[in-house]
Amino acid sequence: TAALPELPAVAGARLRVPLVSGDDIGYANLDHAASAPCLDAVRDAVDEFLPWYASVHRGAGFASQVSTKLYERTRDTIRRFVDARAGDTVIFTRNTTDSFNLLARAVPKNTSVVVFDTEHHAALLPWRGPNVHRIPLPGTRLAAVSAVDSALAACAEGPRLVVLTGASNVTGEVLPVAEIAAVARRRGARIALDAAQLSPHRGVSLRESDVDYVAFSGHKLYAPFGAGVLVGRADWLRAAQPYLAGGGASKVVSSADAGDVSVVWNHGPERHEAGSPNTVGVYALGVACEQLAANRAALEAHEHALLEKLRRGFESVPGLAELKLFEDAGDRVGTVSFVLDGFEPGRLAAVLSAEYGIGVRDGAFCAHIATRRLIGRTGVEAKQAVRVSIGLGTTEEHVDRLLLALRQIVARGARWSYAVVDGRWAP
Ligand code: PMP
Repeated sequence: TAALPELPAVAGARLRVPLVSGDDIGYANLDHAASAPCLDAVRDAVDEFLPWYASVHRGAGFASQVSTKLYERTRDTIRRFVDARAGDTVIFTRNTTDSFNLLARAVPKNTSVVVFDTEHHAALLPWRGPNVHRIPLPGTRLAAVSAVDSALAACAEGPRLVVLTGASNVTGEVLPVAEIAAVARRRGARIALDAAQLSPHRGVSLRESDVDYVAFSGHKLYAPFGAGVLVGRADWLRAAQPYLAGGGASKVVSSADAGDVSVVWNHGPERHEAGSPNTVGVYALGVACEQLAANRAALEAHEHALLEKLRRGFESVPGLAELKLFEDAGDRVGTVSFVLDGFEPGRLAAVLSAEYGIGVRDGAFCAHIATRRLIGRTGVEAKQAVRVSIGLGTTEEHVDRLLLALRQIVARGARWSYAVVDGRWAP
């Protein structure tokens, strides 16, 4: 509509899907938090690069030179994207999960880790040992800051690390990152930010928020699968054993006594990037970051308008309860999960897909503890929830269609036949 700003185009916006009724309908993508559709600009850039991809740092061959240049240039793009400090290193990984596993292996052995038990499993599970403190997330942002403070006060001597999500993949609520980073700093701890859900919606500044590490995934940032990053302080990463052993990570390998080999490992980011890297994925991620950074204001305005419309509309759906982490108001990105009294989430998602052409996510969103706890607070009998997430591929019509679908489904009651009542979703 006229109120919404000009936005970069994404693939799939015009995709049509066949419904059970046999009709074709435009696909309403309300599942951006799972993976965001590829930007047209990213697809075009990848198309141009495809004839030239090669492994990086592998000699003077022309394709390797082209790939190396784009790969290393992307490190600078990422650096700008997260407003990194001069000494920060940019390591390319497969995704956020890979980034946190790498970091977990790189922290000094005696590091105490403080992490809310409601985190996504990628941030919750990689940490091991007696010094890991998984603490419950309190019901307000304010109390969350104090909880980290108290947990850090109780940690053993030695290095400390707080692991925190930027925006919840379940509720879209933004956590008080800068405030928790300040507490961490006062307690001599570092902080690692899971920006998988924050970075597609908000700018991230390591410098301003005083965050030590950040991780995110290309496939949630409007680029294809397979590339992610870990950015942050270089010292622990430089000192750690290489994440993978192999070519690229090793600088010099020579034969040693008794048939063994002696290895001099690289000290830069290549130390943790052994093997032929995903040059195409990395390049695509960089182009996506540039596009998002250049269109932040428009993207935020678009998502804000649609989120408001969606949440207002939810009030007209009987029996719908939103999941919420916090009682106090704060920023939130375009992701909302809900339960609908009397309707099983998996079947609800299936009906939305098959009868209305709407893509949502159902389940516990790889954040089982958070999802179960938040469903418990709604009083609705359910084990899982439905998640709706807005992004560049979402239009007002998609939101209208979802709201109408939910009202129609509730009106039909729990009769889960795929027979289309009165034809279709169209008002
Ligand atoms: N953290 C959060 C908050 C996420 O939403 C996700 C993806 N659902 C991840 C981490 C893991 O991302 P990936 O699957 O790309 O490793």
